[in-house]
Amino acid sequence: MISDVPGAEPQPDSTTSAEQQAPHDVVLAIDINGESFEAGLVTARGELIDRASAPVEPDVGPESHYTALALMVTELNEVAREHHNARVRGVGVGCEGLVNRGLELVSPVSLSSWRDFPLRGRLAELTGLPVFGDLDAKVLALAEGWLGAAQGHREFCVITVSAAIDGAIVIDGDLLEGASGYAGQVGHMIVEPGGRRCRCGAQGCLDAEASGQAIEAITGRPHSEPTYEIMQRTGRLVGRAAAMICNAFDLTMVVVGGTVASGFGATFFHAAQVALDEDARLSYSRGARITPSRLGETGPVLGAGAIGWRGVRRSVRPARSQPPNAR
Ligand SMILES: [Zn+2]
Repeated sequence: MISDVPGAEPQPDSTTSAEQQAPHDVVLAIDINGESFEAGLVTARGELIDRASAPVEPDVGPESHYTALALMVTELNEVAREHHNARVRGVGVGCEGLVNRGLELVSPVSLSSWRDFPLRGRLAELTGLPVFGDLDAKVLALAEGWLGAAQGHREFCVITVSAAIDGAIVIDGDLLEGASGYAGQVGHMIVEPGGRRCRCGAQGCLDAEASGQAIEAITGRPHSEPTYEIMQRTGRLVGRAAAMICNAFDLTMVVVGGTVASGFGATFFHAAQVALDEDARLSYSRGARITPSRLGETGPVLGAGAIGWRGVRRSVRPARSQPPNAR
């Protein structure tokens, strides 16, 4: 049982009779990225029983963006009750960075109208439900451990190669957090010393060399139309970073997702594995594997469901595990 991942844990044994009567308990899961707002209803077993989507309109203000999100959330909440006879236990959110702890304030890189937008508070006010959330790569790691390629593994890394490159690390079943919540942010590992200037100010970061945005800047073409060389190079650089992570964190499993990686397919994954084999040579990192995300395009919403269920479980745990002599 992975302690930080919702998992196929038995239902809480102290559920009240009212809870037991609920035909379906779900979390309302929301993925915030620069292109669209995606939402779904995720059961405690990780089934996605309904979905909704709203495009992110360009050039509208922060409140217009929020209104579009709120409309979708309200409708899906009603669909849960009326169509699925489900009880919504909480809201889970995966959000593109930057975010602060608990999503109190979010500033998604590619959603420029939201800068320090108070997302958690607004969603809590809208739904009357507890809201739990984190960075998109971190919630994807929860989902991969729960339902995907890292199911049953207690140690692994997730790297997402999309417009930007992000990541997350799970050690001993727990998602690493760090002082500000950015542990596992692998996009700023230097893979090409002296290379392209990154938006962080450094040169040769993985994000500045191998992200979708970087590929478009380097090639002058959409990243969906790559050359063979670009697919290979991108894989090689991601594999190099993966080896550094495996060496530093004593890992042998790296799950790679994201639209760029999945679009490049076998050429990318082969090149990444070759680079990983070249650079991960320590007794504990030798033989480390790169494996594609198994959740595909449902990963982000399932990730949001995973963090939502983790939050719901944690918020009920003290009550049911309280020993008799507790305060
Ligand atoms: Zn950087």
